[in-house]
Amino acid sequence: MVSINLCLRGVSLATTVITSKLPAGAPLLTIEETGCCIVGAGPAGVMLALLLARRGVDVTLLEAHRDFEREFRGNTLNPAALETLARFGLVAELLKLDHAKVRRFVLQETGGRRETFADFSRLRSPYPYVMMLQQARFLEVVVAEAERYPNFRLVMGARVRELVEEGGVVRGVRYGAGDGVHEVRAGLTVGTDGRFSRLRKLAGLEPEVSGSPMDVFWFNLPRLPDDPEGAGAVFRFGRGSLMVMMDHSDHWQVGYIIPKGHYARLKERGLPALRRSVAALAPELGARVETLEDWGQGSLLPVDSDRLRRWHKPGLLLLGDAAHVVSPVGGVGINLAIEDAVVAGNVLADPLLKGNIRERHLRSVQRRRSLSVRVVQYAQNVAQRHVVMDALSREEPFELPRLLRLLLRTPLLRDVPTRLIAYGGWPAGLE
Ligand SMILES: Cc1cc2nc3c(=O)[nH]c(=O)nc-3n(C[C@H](O)[C@H](O)[C@H](O)COP(=O)(O)OP(=O)(O)OC[C@H]3O[C@@H](n4cnc5c(N)ncnc54)[C@H](O)[C@@H]3O)c2cc1C
Repeated sequence: MVSINLCLRGVSLATTVITSKLPAGAPLLTIEETGCCIVGAGPAGVMLALLLARRGVDVTLLEAHRDFEREFRGNTLNPAALETLARFGLVAELLKLDHAKVRRFVLQETGGRRETFADFSRLRSPYPYVMMLQQARFLEVVVAEAERYPNFRLVMGARVRELVEEGGVVRGVRYGAGDGVHEVRAGLTVGTDGRFSRLRKLAGLEPEVSGSPMDVFWFNLPRLPDDPEGAGAVFRFGRGSLMVMMDHSDHWQVGYIIPKGHYARLKERGLPALRRSVAALAPELGARVETLEDWGQGSLLPVDSDRLRRWHKPGLLLLGDAAHVVSPVGGVGINLAIEDAVVAGNVLADPLLKGNIRERHLRSVQRRRSLSVRVVQYAQNVAQRHVVMDALSREEPFELPRLLRLLLRTPLLRDVPTRLIAYGGWPAGLE
């Protein structure tokens, strides 16, 4: 890995087209050369960095934030992710951390009748559950493993603002850090910078938007020691209301689901009305709903669903949420991001080592991943339109559609939601 300290203002950019967003005249402090520059240290970015580093590729991972601590960014690891992490011997380490295991997702109708929607204990996996673990802890464990390789470099507090392009080929990025501007030049740049991806915009890659009819307000409520063990994740249907409660071992994470764009209306009705609605959906929480005292304790997730038509252009590949934003239905965004990284690691390591990355390699990553993304988004759309929106638009008690109840009790068919959540349909398989 070569790192050249330039400390100059007027570096020659004769062959370089910069999509400029950095302050004009900001000093370019360093230019570094690497094999693969990954932008964004979320699940997709850290996993790809680890997978490439262990194959010997020089990797630089740039992350805008200075740490991984962020509330409400998704705290689930599904069986596919755990099976991949097990290949690195990391699951034992993760299991030592504070976590909960969710073995089934349950739908509970207004009258209290329950139907299992996904039952992970039926999977033939050493990890037949969804692990609820703070995402920051998971990212730290993966990064610590990557740091064992001398060819891996992580820069925190590095916000990428520009692509470096030459003759229509992306050759790297420029990022702002506290001290000024730095450039990373790479054989391949990978954008894993999430749902508001700057790289996606800079590259002019257009998403197909399928949209979503709902938003989710997330907040936490205390969990008491005598709350039932292994409660898992339960969707509670009320009269025109719906929420999901997820057991996080030391607290309940609650997602209160509202029609798209109705957050202002929810706030207008006020916190007492929200608390009453939550208490009606989950009476066993009792006085604990009173701990929700301020809207700032929660976070609105505007639900989106889209996917890029093309995940790549010469020298650049987008993965994870940057390539496809999925709805939170089923909690699969992290899994899809990790599976993208697994496939990208499988396909790209050799060409990166040989220094002959071509667009066909990038196309191959998209081809291998896009069906899984499409299938998941299709299933989420069906669930959102035929169950979620139906539940939110009724004033009378909600009962599951008979056909759905039948499907969830039919051998083989009943395993479809389980497999979609666990593997995004089928596991990518680390080579
Ligand atoms: C409130 C909420 C709850 C969720 N709950 C779940 C859940 O329970 N289960 C689930 O599976 N999914 C959940 N998701 C979705 C899940 O978080 C994402 O699908 C997943 O994190 C995508 O991973 P990623 O690596 O593609 O992107 P991200 O996790 O979004 O990571 C992107 C990273 O890039 C960094 N970055 C952004 N811009 C730049 C830049 N210009 N320069 C450098 N770095 C940059 C960001 O700081 C971030 O660290 C939830 C999402 C939200 C918002």
